[in-house]
Amino acid sequence: MTTLVQAAHHVRRGARASYGFLTAGAVAMLNVLGLFGEGAVFGLEHMVVGATWAVVFALRATRRIRWQRERVGQAPMDLELGCLLLMGVHAVVQAMGGLTGPFYPLLYVSIAFAGAFSDRRTGRILVLAAIAFEAVLYLATEGDGALQTLFMHAGFVVLFGFLSGLFTQAEIRRVRYQSRQALEDAQERMRADARMFRLVAPQACSERDDERLFRSSVEEVHQSLLFNLELLHRTLGLHTCVLLMLDDDGDTLCVAEIVSDSEHVAEGPYRSGSGAVGAALKRGVIMNLEHLRPGYPGICYYGDAAMVSAFVAVPVLDADSQRVRGVLCADRLEDRPFAPSEEEILRHAVGHLMRTLENERLFVQLDCAKREHTVLRQASESLGAAMTEREVLDAALRAAADVAPFDFAAVTDFDPASRCHRVRRAVGVGAERFVDLRFRDNASLTAMAVKNRHFLPLRGEYDPNNQVVFTRRTPLPDMQSLLILPLIVREEALGTLALAARRRDAFGDPVRPALQALANQLAVALANAAAVARLEALATTDGLTGCYNKRYFHEEMQSRLQAAQRFGRCVSLIIADIDHFKSVNDTYGHATGDVVIRELGALLKRLARETDVVARFGGEEFCILCEETDAEGAANLAERVREELAGKVFETELGKLTVTCSLGVATYPDHGRDKRSLFDAADRALYVAKGSGRNRVEVAHVLSRAS
Ligand code: GH3
Ligand code: MG
Ligand code: MG
Repeated sequence: MTTLVQAAHHVRRGARASYGFLTAGAVAMLNVLGLFGEGAVFGLEHMVVGATWAVVFALRATRRIRWQRERVGQAPMDLELGCLLLMGVHAVVQAMGGLTGPFYPLLYVSIAFAGAFSDRRTGRILVLAAIAFEAVLYLATEGDGALQTLFMHAGFVVLFGFLSGLFTQAEIRRVRYQSRQALEDAQERMRADARMFRLVAPQACSERDDERLFRSSVEEVHQSLLFNLELLHRTLGLHTCVLLMLDDDGDTLCVAEIVSDSEHVAEGPYRSGSGAVGAALKRGVIMNLEHLRPGYPGICYYGDAAMVSAFVAVPVLDADSQRVRGVLCADRLEDRPFAPSEEEILRHAVGHLMRTLENERLFVQLDCAKREHTVLRQASESLGAAMTEREVLDAALRAAADVAPFDFAAVTDFDPASRCHRVRRAVGVGAERFVDLRFRDNASLTAMAVKNRHFLPLRGEYDPNNQVVFTRRTPLPDMQSLLILPLIVREEALGTLALAARRRDAFGDPVRPALQALANQLAVALANAAAVARLEALATTDGLTGCYNKRYFHEEMQSRLQAAQRFGRCVSLIIADIDHFKSVNDTYGHATGDVVIRELGALLKRLARETDVVARFGGEEFCILCEETDAEGAANLAERVREELAGKVFETELGKLTVTCSLGVATYPDHGRDKRSLFDAADRALYVAKGSGRNRVEVAHVLSRAS
């Protein structure tokens, strides 16, 4: 009973959710049954169907608009509305003369309309539905005589659907492009304003942050300027009051801010050299013009249409360099010349404006310095925490990217003994070509930077035709900026930090000191990492042979046995001991004994796999731990060691010397389940080898079975 109720509930819910489809289906069915057929008189049933259709369409369209606002997926709703529309239009077409009647093109319009509003997939389904339904209608109403018309209609339906989709896509793309363009324009305008106010040197902060900084400062400056100009405009009864600023080259003037009653102000920028404005700029003095005639051409912002009678231009001087940066212009329509007291007011206003600019500039610089400080502090912390060379390099490159974004970076080191440079790490564009690149002490910028202990190139520009970064064969394509910083520790250059970027001026004066500071920190951290690595090697290796020492072997064996237990793998242990070594020492001397020990160590390292651990256990006894190796594999290795040592002839002062060794092999889990039992088993095997004539390999399992 409950399942019946549930099923009914589901049906009701489904019907409510898609009553648009149901209505469309009902209209379609009535159409096929000939309700709207030619000759049918327009009656009550048509009105009922039409009204129902209109109400359902309105309800579903409203819901679709609500979904759009709530950002719910609209595709199912679009399909529902599209079907409703199609079936409605089909009904109208049928009533107005049928599929070959004059109203048929309405269907093309509805397909184009639906295609424009829905996504591509929904559009395709609607086109197919339209064609399929029309085919059914043909069979029901026209018979199969008009197949040709059906095909033609189908072709047009597809064409309209396709074109409408195409145009919609093109339109979407155009709108997207325009809005992106508008955004970029706005950003560029803001940057231009920041440059005009000289709030910040172009590359003082990294690109990611200058935006935020510029924006608030530029807005602040504009507001302050506007307020001051409005004040002047009102108090001095001006027609126009405008602040014009020179660009970097000094040959064009841009409007920084303007308050004007005139409709004839020409949009800048203007040429800076001409007229009264040009004279004020050139001479750096106030230009006060009286009794001007209408049409006076010397005021650049009016073009030829100056109607003013009095004009004054006050030069704007840079506080530091006393260079002319712009000009504050004021004019009046009435023939009332600017009095000395008014000139004074304007001069004070200029002073105030310059102080505002100076404050903002300081604020930006402070913020940049603070940011730089934070980056360097963080770099110093992470460099300090880094223990290995790789960690150090990663931390330094991350910090360098924060100071000045780059497209390629590399760290090289220099070995004074072999006079060889090597790329330790390279990241960015084409970095894989440089990994582990080695080159002699050549005439490259890297070699020069190390030799001179000074950054290169001096201007931070890269010219691939004339400059060699590492070697001639490895240029950095597409890069325009380059900086190679020496890594100096105690007056000695250990290597370099090389940075390259595709944009110009990436590593100029504003960022270079911070990068050099970073390079110095990197140098110290690299030296520390090398010292740590040396200490670690000392603590884990044996001085005579370079093999690992006993302590390291025990630690390593412990962890590898645990791993083997966890993953159900085998591990083998080989113990090697030189035969009658006491007599070698006694006969040939300790020094020769050492040579023999060293040779066995080298031989073991050569024959063992990279994952094996070879250790000298003291005296002339060595241990080898072979991961994922069974007793047979380990015995083979031991046999090769035995053979090679026995075949080796040592030249001594007392003539030729040959030595042999005996080896014991034990495997986890066959001969021992922990470190201790495994050592015991291998020791016993070695003992058996010694006891049965030496120069032999014994595997523990013989013993294990016996015991
Ligand atoms: P066996 O065949 O039974 O192993 O006889 P053996 O003489 O080799 O006996 P054992 O393994 O006990 O000999 C160890 C000798 O190795 C004792 C010591 O004189 C010598 N030895 C220990 N460390 C060194 C070393 O660093 N250099 C040299 N030259 N000899 C060492
Ligand atoms: Mg021995
Ligand atoms: Mg021994």
